[in-house]
Amino acid sequence: MRSLSSLKGLGPKRLKALQEAGINSVVDLLGVLPKDYLNASMPIPIAQLHQVPACVAGKIKKEPTSHYFGGRNYVRAVLYDSSGEIPLIWFNQPWVKNQLSMNQEILLFGKASLYQNRQSMVNPKLISDTGILPVYPPLAQLPGKVFSSLIAQVVESLHDDDLEPFPDDFLHQYHLCKKEDAWRMAHFPKSLQDIEKAKRRLAFENLLVFQHAIKNAGNKGEAGLLVKTLKRDQAGFWAALPFEPTKAQKNTLNQIAKDLGSGRAMRRLVQGDVGSGKTAVAFGAVALTKQAGFQSALMAPTELLARQHYASAQKLLAPLGISCGLLLGSQKAAERKDALKSIETGEWHLVIGTQAILGAKVQFHNLGLVITDEQHRFGVRQRGRLAGKAASDIAPHVLALSATPIPRSLALTLYGDLDVSIINEVPPGRTPVKTRIVPEKKRNQMYEYLKEKASLGEQSYLVCPLVEDSETEERKSATSMYEELKKGPLRGIALGLTYGNQEEERKQAELSAFYEGKTKVLVSTTVIEVGMDVPNATTMVVEDADRFGLAQLHQLRGRVGRGSKESWCFLLGQENERLLALTQTNDGFLIAQKDLEQRGPGEFLGTRQHGRMLSAYGTGDLRLIEETRACLLDLEKDPKGEEVLSILSNLSKEQFKEGLDPVALD
Ligand code: ADP
Ligand code: MG
Repeated sequence: MRSLSSLKGLGPKRLKALQEAGINSVVDLLGVLPKDYLNASMPIPIAQLHQVPACVAGKIKKEPTSHYFGGRNYVRAVLYDSSGEIPLIWFNQPWVKNQLSMNQEILLFGKASLYQNRQSMVNPKLISDTGILPVYPPLAQLPGKVFSSLIAQVVESLHDDDLEPFPDDFLHQYHLCKKEDAWRMAHFPKSLQDIEKAKRRLAFENLLVFQHAIKNAGNKGEAGLLVKTLKRDQAGFWAALPFEPTKAQKNTLNQIAKDLGSGRAMRRLVQGDVGSGKTAVAFGAVALTKQAGFQSALMAPTELLARQHYASAQKLLAPLGISCGLLLGSQKAAERKDALKSIETGEWHLVIGTQAILGAKVQFHNLGLVITDEQHRFGVRQRGRLAGKAASDIAPHVLALSATPIPRSLALTLYGDLDVSIINEVPPGRTPVKTRIVPEKKRNQMYEYLKEKASLGEQSYLVCPLVEDSETEERKSATSMYEELKKGPLRGIALGLTYGNQEEERKQAELSAFYEGKTKVLVSTTVIEVGMDVPNATTMVVEDADRFGLAQLHQLRGRVGRGSKESWCFLLGQENERLLALTQTNDGFLIAQKDLEQRGPGEFLGTRQHGRMLSAYGTGDLRLIEETRACLLDLEKDPKGEEVLSILSNLSKEQFKEGLDPVALD
């Protein structure tokens, strides 16, 4: 196989640029797969150009001109063919002018869009040949053209090498092409089918290796603190609560008790729909841990949720002689100092807070159990940081609570090394939330409904449209909505307002007012998505609902229907299939499945957090996940599977030598 340095056009500077992008070998280079393809295989007449990107072939009508306006340069030209003509315009690409001249025949890739009231092509791409063109992710310090030429050199020499790790009959059985071919087709596809074949081959290996690594991660064997519990401790805990536990809650606590006493470190994920009562189960685990003489920590994603857990712990755990305390980033120095002391001396049996709990300064007396609630970024696999906090050098038990139900196949793929409990029932006596899509013309009618509910003493949430990526914009949007409602449609009703980066004290005041029923309608961003538990709130309004994910809408809806009164969720927007699905079911697992099918696991889980595995090529495919999982099981059953399994072992050792990504729970 060629070495990187043997490639033409790769001096020390560019070699360094590659290395900085993590590309150290020819195989790494091949692994940089196109993020997209432009289908320029068949030019279409200019007259047929639409808002979908396509390839056109034509001639430049007159000499292109360069202009300067409002601080930016633009180049204008006109393209024509026998069917018609279209203006071309390039912004901030002054060099384009020198590449074009009158009567020149060119190929362009782009779409028609309205510019200054005329159909035009804005920033079309000049291409040199028809075909399917790969689009690579940009690399710093390395022009795209150079990158393409490097790939071309490597792909050309591919036939000399045998890069295929798997035996022929395995490839044949699972309809996979050879790896060399897959790489060639991914980088230089001749047809759309080539791309599909390449994706399948590369993603198949990817998923298989990942699942093999997870299965053999060995988490299940790690030594854990022995937290001995008795059956009657569980019974005692449930008896002390003001409600009867559901069967699913009881079962889950029982599983946890077994884990705690097994001598191995618990790595358990509890999944349950919103309102299924996961916190109570977690409190049960705290009670058992305290009984055995150890401390627990409970981490929530927001201070709001931490405070709320603290309030329920005061109600449910304090009567059992379990002392709880809060550790928050916003605490004043003196308060914080006291808290740290109570944690270190063991005076607090349960410490509740945000991730700050695991900060370097926090010393536990004897930490036995760590619970993460809705805390996606902190995975159960993050062992290193926990070990240092443990009662001894033995890792503490970890329990993760998640309301994002993940279909079984995906759960097994991502969390195959964890134990999973599912709470599949909600406490009795709840009336299912009714959901309706509200078109714009019914908006005022809906406000009348909110007013009427307020006059009856019931409360509502009003969630503002999703604003991307900016807390400032988010604040503006929430604030202006609040102002408008206050002046107009909801005049005279006690309104509250909260958003993500609201000043902590203000936020507390707003939330307390809503908890106490002093404000009737809470205008907010999605900060209220997890955890808010106000049984008197019976209406949830979501503005511009279609911009939210289904799973997220379901979470928001879960804020109401917590008491015995009839509750409604109003989704503002146009009726469509996605939103209709929500009106038809209250089953979070079903909704998650739908969401996943529509958006793929990468989007659904947030690709960023899942790093390597899901950002890899072609893996946003639930069916392929299923298929590779079944394949792995077959290999394990089949005596002839041994050869492939040992190949997988080597591959996974190589790929995951630094361990699996710690991010795990979403
Ligand atoms: P989630 O699973 O969404 O985190 P919570 O633990 O917040 O749910 O529980 C929601 C509400 O239901 C809380 O007010 C809690 O006290 C109550 N609850 C939990 N379990 C039961 C039960 N078995 N019967 C009645 N109410 C319950
Ligand atoms: Mg919860």
